[in-house]
Amino acid sequence: MSALARAAVDLGAIAGNVRTIAAVTGTDLMAVVKADGFGHGAVPVARAALRAGAGWLGVTSASEALALRDAGITAPTLSWLHRPDDDFASLIAAGVDVGVSTTTHLHAVAAAAHRLGAPALVQLKADTGLARNGAGGDDWPELAGWARKYEVEGSVRVRGVWSHLADADVPGSPALARQVTTFEEALRVARGAGLDPELVHLANSAAALSAPTTRYDLCRIGLALYGVDPFGATGPGAFGLRAAMTLRTTVVNVKRVPAGTGVSYGPEYVTCGRTTLALLPVGYADGLTRAAEGRAAVWLGGRRCPVVGRVAMDQCVVDAGDLPVSIGDPVVVFGPADGERTPPTVGEWARWAGTNPHEILTGIGARVARDHHHEGAESS
Ligand SMILES: *Cc1c(COP(=O)(O)O)cnc(C)c1O
Repeated sequence: MSALARAAVDLGAIAGNVRTIAAVTGTDLMAVVKADGFGHGAVPVARAALRAGAGWLGVTSASEALALRDAGITAPTLSWLHRPDDDFASLIAAGVDVGVSTTTHLHAVAAAAHRLGAPALVQLKADTGLARNGAGGDDWPELAGWARKYEVEGSVRVRGVWSHLADADVPGSPALARQVTTFEEALRVARGAGLDPELVHLANSAAALSAPTTRYDLCRIGLALYGVDPFGATGPGAFGLRAAMTLRTTVVNVKRVPAGTGVSYGPEYVTCGRTTLALLPVGYADGLTRAAEGRAAVWLGGRRCPVVGRVAMDQCVVDAGDLPVSIGDPVVVFGPADGERTPPTVGEWARWAGTNPHEILTGIGARVARDHHHEGAESS
């Protein structure tokens, strides 16, 4: 109850975003709930997305996948980044699909399935140009060949073939078209090796919304699920997405100061006229990154007020000008864009910080309380 800042998560917005995106793609959707649902809470977001019609959940790690199972969520789930000695037996027993990018991992998954006496559900990842995970070059036919061997032997079932795009948020990117071509070639190689994957997927949010050639059977939706426009539009946006998170805090001190007052650590910021300073109990430990200093603003007293001086670990100072501000006044750090005069959005914070909205959302600190509600009805 007594947290200094709260992130209110509107599960109705999550559900609405699933429906909005599915109407555009015409495909099944994988709700990507890695990193605790981009900081929104993986379990409540997963439940809301599934209820709204998403068929799949996507997570990074085995422990994230197993946490969903522990919460009683049985929906199809793909986990995609593993140590070679990860607990594949637990994933197989839990019916989690294992994303596999190397023969090292494939051998370990097949061995675990063999010991367990149950086939592993595997989705092979091709590297089509991101040069991160996935198998590329000669490694791809080798991976596909081994997977087919294990499939014939009965320890593996290759349910999917997939890849990930490098710059889908750059409209008209020639790299995206090249990746689609490379992906098509990888699919031909996989089928030539005797594989018959029922699920082919490539698109993330940006590609799903803008590049029909990337949609295949399933689109993996992260950022757009949380209502953030992948192309950086900060208003209500072209796609009708609604931001799910509103980050709120409260003014905890107010002072009227003369011109020439130095604010916060260091000599950088000095008031240039008589003004009112409001202290907020949120800092970089809560996700208000110092990289946004000098540009960031919050919503206070019905308008945007700039964050001034250095952002500290636990607090920051806002210049409220001549607004009649009081201790206890509510502040919105960011939230959904609603009409003309509106709090900052996550997208704006990302621009101010020179980063992407993903980093802002996943940077919201652990001591910020999360409250989940559905279209206005507070629950927990
Ligand atoms: C994080 C992630 C996604 C979601 O990406 P968005 O751009 O947030 O939609 C999709 N696929 C993979 C493999 C990811 O790691």
